[in-house]
Amino acid sequence: MLRPVQDRQSLPPEEVVTFHDRDSGASGVIVLHSSALGPAAGGCRLWHYPDDRAATVDALRLAEGMALKNALADLPFGGGKAVIRVPQRPFDRAALFRAFGRQVAELQGRYVTAEDVGTSVADMAEVATRTRHVAGLPASGQKPGGDPSPWTALGVLEAMRVAVDRQLGADLSDLTVAVQGLGHVGYALCELLHAQGAKLIVAEPRSDVAARAADRFGAMVMSSRALLSARVDVLAPCALGGVLDAETVAQLRASVVCGAANNQLAGEDLATRLAERDVLYAPDFLVNAGGIINVAGEYLGWSTPEVERRVMAVGQKMAAVLALADQNGITPDEAARALALERISQVSRAQAAA
Ligand code: NAD
Repeated sequence: MLRPVQDRQSLPPEEVVTFHDRDSGASGVIVLHSSALGPAAGGCRLWHYPDDRAATVDALRLAEGMALKNALADLPFGGGKAVIRVPQRPFDRAALFRAFGRQVAELQGRYVTAEDVGTSVADMAEVATRTRHVAGLPASGQKPGGDPSPWTALGVLEAMRVAVDRQLGADLSDLTVAVQGLGHVGYALCELLHAQGAKLIVAEPRSDVAARAADRFGAMVMSSRALLSARVDVLAPCALGGVLDAETVAQLRASVVCGAANNQLAGEDLATRLAERDVLYAPDFLVNAGGIINVAGEYLGWSTPEVERRVMAVGQKMAAVLALADQNGITPDEAARALALERISQVSRAQAAA
């Protein structure tokens, strides 16, 4: 029996910067969560938010997730995130991202940006006209760069391999995986899973994309709601966050949850509820580190083989987290958090002592 999560450990953000650029319509927030390990790094999301408060709340949660993710992936970065509200009026996209780039430039390297939901390589190229503290730019030659999503998908696959081996004693080729969301990461994950011989069930509101997955991978297409309670071995949430709430957790029939979406748990007690239902929940901030590893490699000038080595190591980190969870009778989510916070506080202590 696992002990319940008491106070979930977390750290307050170091800095919250809001911006409004009247000419371009760019309006949003940049959160620098922590800088103990290095500059705050994390992507830029362009999304519809009802108001500034909702945008800030989302950015705060996402930046904290980045702090944990970067620490757990052994990257020399703290956590950060930017969100931009989709303007209510017609807007010039290039001008919007140039305005955002000016904001990033003002932070003088304390925040490093890249793509996230709603933003693209072309958008980051506009940001790069105003600041050098940006990655996810068009790849040049054999160097890391470009869309980080295939690397994210590879990290998810490696974590899933370890999780299903532990939970089901099975190989991916024996299993059925439900993938929610066939965007940049979800579709790439389907390609990898199909190559491994896994059976696929998918949900995606863009019917042409869902039909392509059915055609290419023999995937069964379902509604997103039905997918969450489908009889499958693995659920891979690859759309937006908050997908695991009290209702969906109660209805879940998958044995493993392992996907790319950030902030999959809608509430703090849900990791415990999943464990009580004997569902292995692979912490999202561990599993989806592949993209930020590629971003780090691009920004810091690593080689592609170095990026690949680090992305493949997401599976080893998953195994370490599961072992720590077992030893301490805690959930994998708590174990991953504890490992990440331990690295941040170790470095902070060493800096304070120096
Ligand atoms: P994306 O915008 O390319 O894809 C999201 C997909 O989900 C879209 O195809 C959209 O139509 C679909 N979708 C939306 N609502 C849905 C619903 N209710 N049911 C099913 N599908 C739905 O985004 P992405 O880059 O593929 O990222 C997916 C998730 O992974 C996000 O939560 C993102 O924050 C996270 N993530 C992405 C990366 C990366 O490298 N891109 C890295 C880490 C984490």
